[in-house]
Amino acid sequence: MTPAKAYGARSEQSGLAPIDIERRDLRPDDIAIRIDYCGVCHTDIHFAQNDWGMTQYPLVPGHEIVGRVTALGDEVRGFSVGDVVGVGCMVDACRECDPCQQGLEQYCLEGPTLTYNGQDRHDGSVTFGGYSESVVVSDRFVVRIPEELDPAAAAPLLCAGITTYSPLRHYGVQAGHKVGVIGMGDLGHMGIKFAHAIGAEVTVFTRSESKVAEAQAQGAHHVIVSSDEAQMQAAAGYFDFMLDTVPVQHDLNPYLSLLRYDGTHILVGLVEPIEPTLHAGNLVFGRRVLAGSLIGGMPETQEVLDFCADNDITCDVEMLDIHDINAAYERVKQGDVKYRFVIDMATLRNPSE
Ligand SMILES: [Zn+2]
Ligand SMILES: [Zn+2]
Repeated sequence: MTPAKAYGARSEQSGLAPIDIERRDLRPDDIAIRIDYCGVCHTDIHFAQNDWGMTQYPLVPGHEIVGRVTALGDEVRGFSVGDVVGVGCMVDACRECDPCQQGLEQYCLEGPTLTYNGQDRHDGSVTFGGYSESVVVSDRFVVRIPEELDPAAAAPLLCAGITTYSPLRHYGVQAGHKVGVIGMGDLGHMGIKFAHAIGAEVTVFTRSESKVAEAQAQGAHHVIVSSDEAQMQAAAGYFDFMLDTVPVQHDLNPYLSLLRYDGTHILVGLVEPIEPTLHAGNLVFGRRVLAGSLIGGMPETQEVLDFCADNDITCDVEMLDIHDINAAYERVKQGDVKYRFVIDMATLRNPSE
């Protein structure tokens, strides 16, 4: 085992503080990574606070990891020491079920092993995430960061990026389609960039007039203020797809009526019961589809990174000193970040700098 500095939570109320952890000795398929950057995802906060009642403490969050390879297990091929690599939300899966064999490890029938708060499939230990100076991960769950990408701004592509890219691809968004993006947070701003790059006509739905210029700057062709009934009604039956990134309960009915027949409304932010009630007529009359999507598999996670390199896309990030992580959590909770904090892990390694 190798000792590693990290930041973690010891209880629901503790906030995050320095913690010493250990990383395992390399298995034959393992890659050791020195972590340079780690994005701060809202999921990290939910786990740190035990919002979902499943946190095992101590918890070391972080699943948007970018760093450099420092060592390789005997059987690893295709990676070299010094390569810039990434690790996202998963570090293992059963590898044998139908979704795993299709490279859809996020839908593993046994459940994938999460990057933190997961249970290692070999030794049963609880996994620790990327708020740390190093990590050891099986090569199947390591992706390459193309050299064209700023590695810090690429980190959020491993969760926020793939979460919005995968459904646009899977449900068949193409050039010329009319795509609505609901919400302008971390996921929404990535959805705008991807839909724009694919060649779709992108409309952003936001509740606040103040975000109109911001949405246009991100690549939106149109902006609809969702609280303005006249604007909403004028768009009835217009859209081929809605990418719904809102993480809290909201009324889907007005959005469904903006889809044309055969249109698809894709949920990527909500994992709660739908309230208020969905009117099935909004689906039946028009053969509309209500869909969901979770991150992406490993082949597609590599694909989104390559797509971003080809199309000059990264996440808009604010760099963070790890000592300010608790204040950053408060700001994320207020929606006060454009659009993702990324921890500069040099601040963990060299606290004096
Ligand atoms: Zn995440
Ligand atoms: Zn599986």
